[in-house]
Amino acid sequence: MSGARVLVVDDNATNRKLISDLLAFAGYEILGAADAEEAQALLRRVRPDLILMDIALPGMDGLTLTRQLKADARTREIPIVALTAFAMKGDDRKAFAAGCAGYLAKPIDTRALPGQIAAYLAAARGAEKEPR
Ligand SMILES: [Mg+2]
Repeated sequence: MSGARVLVVDDNATNRKLISDLLAFAGYEILGAADAEEAQALLRRVRPDLILMDIALPGMDGLTLTRQLKADARTREIPIVALTAFAMKGDDRKAFAAGCAGYLAKPIDTRALPGQIAAYLAAARGAEKEPR
């Protein structure tokens, strides 16, 4: 969904810039945060359509932040996609258990990323429309 707002949470500035540039080029509006505290401060002011969440962050880790956001009525509906460098067995399950909608392993597939984000946004919108 071009024009959708994506928050990229990653403490690695190079990674954050790479992902942000790729998605901005694809037409997304990008917000960035280097750690959980910065992300929380941003989320008090703006509501992104999707969050890309690095798992390994200094201080509060990405899965703990995800659990907090999923426990908060204001942020619960925002789809969160985990990003991690350590693509180990079980990480995907941990990400889903924390409330993530999906999981992307680093290094990011630069050509696939915009399409992957579009698919997550479409899935989230589809889920909102489903009768309960
Ligand atoms: Mg990190």
